[in-house]
Formats: sequence, C-alpha cells, structure tokens
Amino acid sequence: MANVLDRAIVRLLPAIPKPIVRKVSNRYIAGATLEDACRVVSRLNEAGKMATIDVLGEHLDSPDQARALVHEYDTVFDAIERNGLDSNVSIKLTALGLTIDRDVCLENAEAVIKHAAASGNFVRIDMEESTWTTETLGIYRELRGRGYDNVGVVLQSRLRRTIRDIRALADLKPNVRLCKGIYLEPPLIAYQEYQEVRDNFVAALELLLKGGSYVGIATHDEWLLQQSLSRVEGLAREDYEFQMLLGVRELRGDKLVRDGHRLRIYTPFGKHWHAYSMRRLQENPKIAGYILSDLLGANGLASRS
Ligand SMILES: Cc1cc2nc3c(=O)[nH]c(=O)nc-3n(C[C@H](O)[C@H](O)[C@H](O)COP(=O)(O)OP(=O)(O)OC[C@H]3O[C@@H](n4cnc5c(N)ncnc54)[C@H](O)[C@@H]3O)c2cc1C
Repeated sequence: MANVLDRAIVRLLPAIPKPIVRKVSNRYIAGATLEDACRVVSRLNEAGKMATIDVLGEHLDSPDQARALVHEYDTVFDAIERNGLDSNVSIKLTALGLTIDRDVCLENAEAVIKHAAASGNFVRIDMEESTWTTETLGIYRELRGRGYDNVGVVLQSRLRRTIRDIRALADLKPNVRLCKGIYLEPPLIAYQEYQEVRDNFVAALELLLKGGSYVGIATHDEWLLQQSLSRVEGLAREDYEFQMLLGVRELRGDKLVRDGHRLRIYTPFGKHWHAYSMRRLQENPKIAGYILSDLLGANGLASRS
C-alpha cells in the first residue's frame, strides 16, 4: 500500500511548483552556491561532524560540461582549505563523462583526485545504477594502479554481486562506503526483500572489516546501525566512520558523535538542485514517501531522532 502511495507521489512531482520543491529540498541540499555548502559544513564541523561535499551535476551532453565540473571541484578544494573545513568530496563518474567516453571520465576523475592529493584530501566515487558498476570499479582499480591512495569507492548491499566485488577488490584493501543502494534494480541482480538487503549489508561489512578495509557505514536504518556498532566494537575510532545524508536522522547522528564515533554528512550543493531532487525522488519512490510522512509529522521521530 505504501508502495502505491509513494509511486503516486512521484507521479505528481512534476506538477509541484518549484518554490515548494525548494522548501522541501532545503533540508537535504546545502544550497545553490559553494558559500552555502561551506556555511553548512562549518555548522556540521562545529557539531563534531565531518562532511563530504557533492557538486550536483546536470545531465551531461558534452565533454566540456564534464571539464567544467572538474573546475568546480577545484574551487571546492580551495574553499575547504581556505576555510579550514573538515570535509572531503564525493564525485559521480557519469557527471565526469562516463556516459560519453571512459577515457575522458578517467582523465577528469584523475584531475579531481590529483588536486585532492595536493591538499591532503580524499575523493569518494559514488556508485550509480548497476549499468555503471563494472566500469566504476574498473576505473577505481585503474586510479589505484596509478598510485592514488586518496580515493575510495561505494558498494551497494542491494546488489547480489557485492560480496564478489569485495573479494575481487581485496588486494587493494579498498576504502569503501557501504550503503544499501538507492537505485531500484531487477531481481536477477538485486535483492528485493528489505531484510535480505540488510543481511547482505552486514555480511559485506564483516568481510570488509576482516580484510582490513576502512569502511564508511552509510545508513540511517536503526537495525543496521545496531548491527554495525557491534561489528566495530574494539576497533580504533580512526578505523571506520558512520555516514548519513544531510537533514536525515540528525539527532541520531548527534548521538553517534556523543558516543565517540566519527560521522560524516553527505552535503550536496549546486545550481542544479531542482533536477537533482526530482531525479532522486524518481529513482526511489520510497524517499518521496519518507519526505511526505516527515512533512506530515507522522514519521518525525524516525527522521529527526
Ligand atoms: C552518506 C551516504 C551516501 C550514499 N551514497 C550512495 C551512493 O553512492 N550510491 C547509492 O546508490 N546510494 C547511496 N546512498 C543511499 C543509500 O544507498 C540508501 O538508499 C539510503 O541511505 C537509505 O537507506 P538506509 O540504509 O538509510 O535505510 P532505509 O530503511 O531506507 O531508511 C531508514 C530510515 O531513514 C530515513 N531515511 C532514509 N533515507 C531518507 C531520505 N532520503 N530522506 C528522509 N528520510 C530518510 C527514514 O526515516 C527511514 O525509515 C548513500 C547514503 C548515505 C547515507
């Protein structure tokens, strides 16, 4: 039933006036400008939270747009340094040219990572739809082969291949953000049941920790948080981190910090916030459901606590 309602909300989305989408997005997106992002990250840092800044890319039509995004990331690194912020960055390979040409994308990703290395910073490669998983992991391996250690990747527990991917990447001792995966994928390649996705998350986390990987545990799911907390018991604080999205379960994040864990907040900003919000909602109608119930107050505890 909730599923049907979520899908109905998504169908109505294009009819919702931009100012209203803006109001809803405000909580989840730092703003349109880099100054907005710096202000938000500075506030997060004051609350003991780290950040990862994501520049919202637009739909890519030409290599020039991808190169323009590389320059935007240059300004992000400069701002992080200038303002003394505790933040790394997240990139999406499709926004850096993967849909156009793999080599263009590799060159752009390398440019961002090189700039990060120069200021002692780190780049996380987000994971996108399953059509890009193999290419993304291939590019990650190639970048590591070129000597860059300041780069990490994302694995999605929704995908059946994830445990295999962890084994295949083991020689690199990869720095991994582990998440469920936002994209709804077909049964042949992805778990469909909520608990199956959770169980695979725990199995992936155990395998990564056993292999000595640094893991960014990216979830707001209380059950998974509890499972993860018991798996990191005894590890040094610097050996893992929790990660959450801006505006989601903030009080729960505060508690993680109070309890002595490191927490990083995914902080997207950019002028393409409207297209981004629409895309995220359409990719996974459940998110629209969360937001609506949050706005109506029905889920206030789950989202804020
Ligand atoms: C830091 C970070 C980075 C991520 N990077 C990627 C990535 O690179 N690739 C990818 O495919 N996915 C990524 N995701 C998304 C992730 O895969 C999940 O889709 C998302 O986190 C929801 O799963 P969950 O584990 O929080 O559990 P859920 O069961 O979906 O959520 C648990 C509870 O959290 C709240 N909640 C969760 N998400 C939202 C939301 N968006 N708005 C409002 N409330 C919400 C709800 O109250 C919900 O009941 C990322 C997530 C985080 C936290």
